[in-house]
Parts: sequence; C-alpha cells; structure tokens
Amino acid sequence: MASWDRRTPKQLAKLRDSAVRRQVVDAVAPFSPWWKARLKTLGRKASSVGSLDGLSQLSAVGERDVCPDGDPRGMAALVLQGSESGFALHAEGPVLRRALVSRLARPGSYRSIVEADTRPTSFVWAGLGLQYPLASTRSDLDLVARAGARLWQLLGLTRADVMVSALPTLPTAATRALELAALGAGSPLLAPGDGTDDVAAALRLVPASALAVPAAFAAQLLDDLDEAGAPLEALRTVLLVGAAYDDERAAVRDALKRVGVPESCVVLSAHVPDGHRLLWGECRESAGRTGLHTYPDLEVVQLVDPETGEAPIGGGPLEVVVTQLGFRGTALLRWRTGDLADAIAEEACPSCGRTVPRVTGLRAAALVPPLDLRGGSRSVDLRGVSAALVGRADVLDWRVVVSRSERDDADEVLVHVVPAEAADPAEVAVAVARDVRAAAGLLPTQVVLAAPDDLPAGGSALSPRVLSRQ
Ligand SMILES: [Zn+2]
Repeated sequence: MASWDRRTPKQLAKLRDSAVRRQVVDAVAPFSPWWKARLKTLGRKASSVGSLDGLSQLSAVGERDVCPDGDPRGMAALVLQGSESGFALHAEGPVLRRALVSRLARPGSYRSIVEADTRPTSFVWAGLGLQYPLASTRSDLDLVARAGARLWQLLGLTRADVMVSALPTLPTAATRALELAALGAGSPLLAPGDGTDDVAAALRLVPASALAVPAAFAAQLLDDLDEAGAPLEALRTVLLVGAAYDDERAAVRDALKRVGVPESCVVLSAHVPDGHRLLWGECRESAGRTGLHTYPDLEVVQLVDPETGEAPIGGGPLEVVVTQLGFRGTALLRWRTGDLADAIAEEACPSCGRTVPRVTGLRAAALVPPLDLRGGSRSVDLRGVSAALVGRADVLDWRVVVSRSERDDADEVLVHVVPAEAADPAEVAVAVARDVRAAAGLLPTQVVLAAPDDLPAGGSALSPRVLSRQ
C-alpha cells in the first residue's frame, strides 16, 4: 500500500472504516464508562457506530456534555478502563498472541504489554471552559511521536535542524506533541519556557534553525529577542503554534524582516485542537496557504453545526470534531473542539500532493472566547448558550451577540429572543436566562425581548445565530 500520505481515496476509506470499527467496537464502547452509558441511552449498538457512516450520525459531544455541572472530574469517565481480562478479549491478534505467550513464559512481561496498551501514565492539561487532565498510555505516546516524525517531514525539517521552543512550560498537548515530534524525528529540541531571557540564552547556546512560538505572541517575541541580542540569522523555519490568524502571520513576517532574518525563512503554523493530542501542521511547499494537514490513519476529522453539534445543514463556519483512532487513555469520539473552520479539503494538496484531509480557515477555540465580563474574566462556552436556545417551543427565533460595552469596556453576552405568540414574554426571558445558566454556567448579561424583524445583524458570525462584535 502507498505510504500514509499518498493513499488513494478508496484505500483511505477502507483503512479508516476498519480503524473506526476497531476503535469503537473494541476499545471505546466496552471500556469508556461515559460512552458505554451514552450508547445505551441512545439505544445504539457499538457495531452501528463502528464505521465512517455510523460515526457521522452520532451527535458530537464536548466538555460540557461530559461534565454538565462544570466539574472537570467528570472527564475521567472518558478514560478507557481496561483490565487484564478485558484486554485479552479485545486486543488485536498479534498483540494478543505476544501477550499470551508472555503470560505463560514471563508473567511480568505480560503485565507490561497490557499496561502499555491500557494504563494511563502521562497527563497534559486541556479544556476551554474548564480545565481537565488528558490521559495518555505508553502506546498513545508512541502514536504522537510517530505523527510527530511525519510533522517534521511536512514542515520540511530534517535531523539536521535544531529547534528552540518558546512555548510556556505548562504541560499541554501542543508542548508534549512538539517534544515527541523532535524525539520521533531525531532532532534536538531545547524548550526553556516562554521567558525572553531564557529563550535568548538557549539561542546563544545552539545554532537554532527552527523556532517554535505561540502564534499570538510571536511577532512581539521576535522583536524582544532581537533587542536582547539573540542570534536569529540561522533561522529557516518559524513555527507558529496555535493556528495563526492571517494578521498574526503578517506581523511575524514583518518582524522577521525587521530583525534581519533572511527572506528564505518560512513561517508555518501548527495546532492541536483542544482535547486532541496530535499536532496538525502546514506543508512547507504551501508556505501556509493550503491549510492544516491531518493524519487520516490516526484520526477522523469532521465538521458539525456549531449550534447543535449535529451534521451541518447550512453554510458558514462549522465546528471541527475529532475522533481518535488507535488511542487509549482519554479516547475521543466525535469530540467538539470549539475550533471553527471553513472546510475540510479531501483532494490532494495542490502544493505538496499529499492526499491527507486538510482543515482550512481554522479559528482556534472561537466558540469559547475568553471574555472580560463585569463579574470577572472567564472563557464562555457559546455552544452551551446556543444549546439552551435551539429548538425551544417558547421562542420563535433568537440571536446571541458578544460585544463590548461602550459604557465601561466590559464584554457582554446579550441574548435576543422573539417569544412565541402564545408565550408570556416576561416568563420567556426568565426561562431563557435560567436555561442558559444551566447549560453554559453563566447568566447572560441581558435577555432582550425582540420583534421578529428587529433581531440584530452584523459583526462576525460564529454560527448563523451567534454574532461577535468584539
Ligand atoms: Zn501540502
């Protein structure tokens, strides 16, 4: 079969169908307490979800579905909880045979095979509206490292490249994936944290050819490093971690020019969607024009309606959902990442020719924006706000508007509703506020009663009925 990034659509579909079946039927449905209960509630058998088609008909879920009360401890129910007997029933052929032979000959070794596959040993922090730990097993880390070696190829990096990472030291999926990528690719990586002096010191120690920086602070950091006298002239790749916006990319290019980095230096972006563990990247040939390349044998990336989590009906930006293939630990099916994207391009990349799905126009965590509300700063899950409004009998139509108050500059979440004719408007306003609080964990700044032709328009649409005017 062709290599992972050159497979034909037919080869890919076949491979993915069987990988989805293995992941759903053999791993997630029997061993994830949350999904076990969920499928039972939905009245669906694992086998009916265990194909690409079956998976697409499953409602997407996010952190608020798993932790409805906002308590991050609920996320533990997504971690696969296998036992030795469960492993014997569900492990794949060759792994199982190896384990069974070991059980006879070397009992300790049998345990280590079972544990490598099912026991979480490593954690990173994730979460948008709430913070929770993501669990990885040894075999998960192997998958992340393997994907990382591919990322290096995609970015056009080789073993000869030396990377300095200016990402914060907090263990996140992005920092872990970058470390494992360097390990998998055999490249040296120095990660001193995000302090300018520390990064400058690292750059003085090694002749870095690649620099990884958080997308939002990259331009500023380059200026600061230049001021600190850090050597930057050997740079040939700047990796913006966190799905860079066009203006951030442009600012980095300007900054590179200012600090005297040769024009041949390429600016690329990489991103781990929240909850996931794989770092998607842009190919070097595209210089960032053809979107984030994904790993079709290790994940299924799909788009859903950001208001409902169901298959999209209309156009507009859609929410990215991820299903992991082959992962144990915290295993995600149809996971709502909070990222918006324009499309998933399935045709071969016009720049590099790889036949992997590419996510274009990604806006990281756009559905859970950090807001400075009068009651304090927090990330607000607008999917929860929408969930409280979709399909209500007492509301004809609605809009959610996130904007900044002219009076005191605080952010506001305004909910505009058109009450149904038979409903008492005052009661509708109270019920809407109560349900938004239950679904999103906060009261709207105001519930505005509106006439059907009087709903707000304008601003950037996060979904057809959720507008941002920040
Ligand atoms: Zn490409």
